Amino acid sequence: MTARRASMIAICALVISWQPDPSAYVLLNRLWPNGNVAMQLQLGTSGTLMDGFPSWGASAGDALAVWNQYTDRVDMIGIQNSTAPTGSLNGQNNVFFSSTVYGMDWDANALAITISWTVGSTVREADVIFNNRLSWNSYRGPNRQPLFDFHRVALHEFGHVLGLGHPNESGQNVVALMNSRVSDLDGLAADDIAGARALYGTSINNGTVAFPPRNDVVDFRNQLETYYRNVLRRGSVTSFVDMEGEVVWGAEYARYYANGCDHATSVARVLSAIDGNSSSVCASAAPGDVRSAPRNFVLDFFFQLQAKYRDGLRRPPVSTVVDTEGVAVWLLEYLRYRVNGCGHADAAQKVFLQLDGRGVQPLCEGTTPPAPTPGSATLTGRWRGVITSAPQSPLEMVLTQTGNQVTGTFAMTGFGNGQTDPAAPGRIDAGRNFEIRFKLQQFSDFIFRGTLAADGASASGGVFQSGFNGDPFTMTRQ
Ligand SMILES: [Zn+2]
Repeated sequence: MTARRASMIAICALVISWQPDPSAYVLLNRLWPNGNVAMQLQLGTSGTLMDGFPSWGASAGDALAVWNQYTDRVDMIGIQNSTAPTGSLNGQNNVFFSSTVYGMDWDANALAITISWTVGSTVREADVIFNNRLSWNSYRGPNRQPLFDFHRVALHEFGHVLGLGHPNESGQNVVALMNSRVSDLDGLAADDIAGARALYGTSINNGTVAFPPRNDVVDFRNQLETYYRNVLRRGSVTSFVDMEGEVVWGAEYARYYANGCDHATSVARVLSAIDGNSSSVCASAAPGDVRSAPRNFVLDFFFQLQAKYRDGLRRPPVSTVVDTEGVAVWLLEYLRYRVNGCGHADAAQKVFLQLDGRGVQPLCEGTTPPAPTPGSATLTGRWRGVITSAPQSPLEMVLTQTGNQVTGTFAMTGFGNGQTDPAAPGRIDAGRNFEIRFKLQQFSDFIFRGTLAADGASASGGVFQSGFNGDPFTMTRQ
């Protein structure tokens, strides 16, 4: 071993879960909703920096732009010279220098810190604080410690904002700016880019055939692990693809195949996506005619994925109790139920019934997405109504129903405005029963469970959360 500096500087990430939800601590299960993330750049003046940037904000803005090249579903937008109030969980993503971490002392070797708050698996806010007790400039090339490069540290912290962790603290030995210690590396490495692509690459909902939200698939994969360990009592095997990779890329393969690509093309497009390229699906498949890949194809895909992770990405083996064949068969079986009308819980249950030897289960009702008659039995449109217990507060919704998914906005006098979470759109089944959750600015949620009338002109049901507990509501199409 060559001599190493005794004291290196750690770039730390502190993750605080706003709600006590264990899944919020699973780093790669933390995502921003699709769309823009405004970053309030309030870093003060600097004079011209070594690399020519006129200000800290300009250097930070460039670091944001570097990440944005690789994220399709989310862009971090830098608000220069922001005067937004700084504070924890204040609805603003503050980026600033400070001598403390919201009043707490800096860890001895910390350059900067990213604090993020999540609700379930959705990121609500992320603040980045740089330690102003250290000396900073903005430069490329070798680390000039104790003069630290603001630009590479900002790149690293913005990686945390996106939801990336420290590979070297997860048993990986890869070249990555996301490793926990500052080094001569001054830009993103392939592993960093792959991480960003995995989190926010081309959406798995992009094809004609809609695929379930990623968090659902991650949850299913976790359940499968538990079932193999506790029920089937399988021993550990090694895999070069972690669970995240299996879920993201397995679903991508299925999406390409379902949307008209042949096996070889589907494999090639996924492997290319892992390298950071984006491509579109091959054809438009008709809803209700969802093509699932045969098992031998799926298994072949997963073997190629293993080779890609082992030889291309040089990932170390990880331990799992579900072998590659199990992943291939059951992940795709889960997806087959999902794209054929089943909700998450139903689809998972059907897979586990199959694993119990109960045979292939029937697909769910509503395989052909409701086929709403325009203007009648669809939630698409503008709605006005009232919650019976809050008659002074009329509500309005503007909804879009696509297949069995419902997205849209919500406004209610005195309560504010909200919208559906892109990662968890509302659902409606073939019986026209729906559940729609709206997120409001103050982190309050409204859940509407109800039934759409057969003529599509009205809907009624109950409201939950934000002070309501099943209070009746009615609304009519405008
Ligand atoms: Zn870090």
